[in-house]
Amino acid sequence: MTNKANILIVDDEVETVEMISFLLESQGYAVIPAYSGTEALEILQQGIQEPVERRSPIDLVILDVRMPDVDGHEICQAIKQDNHLKYIPVIMVTGLGSAEDTARGLAIGADDYVSKPFRAQELVARVKAMLRVRAMEQELLQHTRELAALNEINKAITSSLDLDQILSQAMHGIREILHVEAGSLLLLGEDNGLLEFKKILSGSQERIVGFRLKPGEGIAGHAVQKGGPLLVLDAQNDPRFCPRVDEAIGFVTRSVLCVPLKVKDKIIGAIEVINKLNGQFDENDLWLLNYMAGSVAIALENARLYTELSDFARELEKSQAQLVQAEKLAAMGRLAASIAHEINNPLQAIHNCLHLTLKKPLNEEKKNRYLGMAQEEVERLITIVQRMLEFYRPSKEGMAPTDVHTIIENVLTLSSKRLQHGKITVTKKLASDLPPISAVRDQLKQVFLNLVINAVEAMPQGGELRIETKLSGDEDGLSVAFTDTGVGLSEKEQENIFEPFFTTKATGTGLGLSVSYGIIERHGGRIKVQSELGKGATFTVHLPLNSTT
Ligand code: ADP
Ligand code: MG
Repeated sequence: MTNKANILIVDDEVETVEMISFLLESQGYAVIPAYSGTEALEILQQGIQEPVERRSPIDLVILDVRMPDVDGHEICQAIKQDNHLKYIPVIMVTGLGSAEDTARGLAIGADDYVSKPFRAQELVARVKAMLRVRAMEQELLQHTRELAALNEINKAITSSLDLDQILSQAMHGIREILHVEAGSLLLLGEDNGLLEFKKILSGSQERIVGFRLKPGEGIAGHAVQKGGPLLVLDAQNDPRFCPRVDEAIGFVTRSVLCVPLKVKDKIIGAIEVINKLNGQFDENDLWLLNYMAGSVAIALENARLYTELSDFARELEKSQAQLVQAEKLAAMGRLAASIAHEINNPLQAIHNCLHLTLKKPLNEEKKNRYLGMAQEEVERLITIVQRMLEFYRPSKEGMAPTDVHTIIENVLTLSSKRLQHGKITVTKKLASDLPPISAVRDQLKQVFLNLVINAVEAMPQGGELRIETKLSGDEDGLSVAFTDTGVGLSEKEQENIFEPFFTTKATGTGLGLSVSYGIIERHGGRIKVQSELGKGATFTVHLPLNSTT
């Protein structure tokens, strides 16, 4: 390339201007003369106002320090303080031995200086060096801009987990940065080994065509097969070029740069850029495309992992739901089986009694005995069914402010005969500051009655029943504990007592505790048991103070 740099020479001495012009023009530079500081500034400003393509920017300024109107230092300062001009190198021309001028010039940003009188070769050498530095600076600036754009696209691509969005953003970005007419992104089918065009960007149009290339077909096919980049400068005359896509979308491919997409050494596809708009594809383009391919591959891998992960999560959720469902069914099955079992026993007994009464000639007394037994069993059935209904009664109806102590007194009155009969002494330790809670009174009464009766039944030889109420500060609620000195419970029993129909009593239903448990749970509370076999048991009911009404 020839020296087409534009050099502005500013000097009030016409002879100096002519001499320097002659020197530089003989080296191929274009020279613009200015005979005063004011004129120089005008020329520089004019350059900026012209539209970019018609502008003939000044590439270098040679500036005399001593001038009558605006002196060289002022012009240098003006150039270096102007954002548009500050990158133009300035060579100052000073008088001989004027060290002071030199120092001042360098301080305000002059790039170099020569002192008069100077030799021709010296000036030319300095101009060349300056322009070389400037060219390098500009190349660097261009790279910096490219890198910034690259970084932007990179961020956009890698922050997305949506495949289509990644492909789209990648192709738009690549086209912008590489200045190409079209581009396409192909992915390798894992099962069939075909390269599929996932995105074709030509003009501002995005096309998704289901085109597929066989292994080794087309330029992309070749690049993938060889596992490295491929540059084809004359596609129409290249045997590797596959014209099918051109034909389908009405496009003419001239040059192609193609790089494979790799994830950990495994090729997953390729990116092609087609027809460079200014000039030919070069090494810089290859570097850029390779770099972009790297981030696209990472983004695609992330998207794939993400899809896999969310598929997995969905699967997991589904199987968990199935498990819960299965668990529910099993629980229902167990419940149904135990209900059937519970009902079957009395039914069998009734059946037998009726059978005996009807089929055998029996005397009145025996008949009555059998009928009496049947009656007892029917009553047992009625109790079971009633308990079961209570068990499933879900409503919260009847919630009212309830004084727990009143309920306790009530229950003790109800069971006073049994307590007395069972030789049981009752002691109470009631908290003085118990606030009313919101509860269904009858249900709470039922729970306490169950606990009292269980305690009585656990102390066949008599004993002590202790009832204690407390405000449990940390749990934001109150507790009612029923402690007896009865037979107690083994650990195994403690695990099962809240299950419906679990009973250790010959005539028990095994429903008292499970019904109570349900009731307390509906009140937002819990029942806990503490016991040691042979030493009695404590059943504690915890209830929240601010249970919803
Ligand atoms: P049921 O009283 O009809 O047996 P519950 O559900 O009320 O049914 O009680 C279940 C079982 O829990 C009882 O059969 C008994 O084994 C045990 N149990 C309950 N309360 C006590 C207690 N205070 N002391 C010892 N065992 C108890
Ligand atoms: Mg009971």
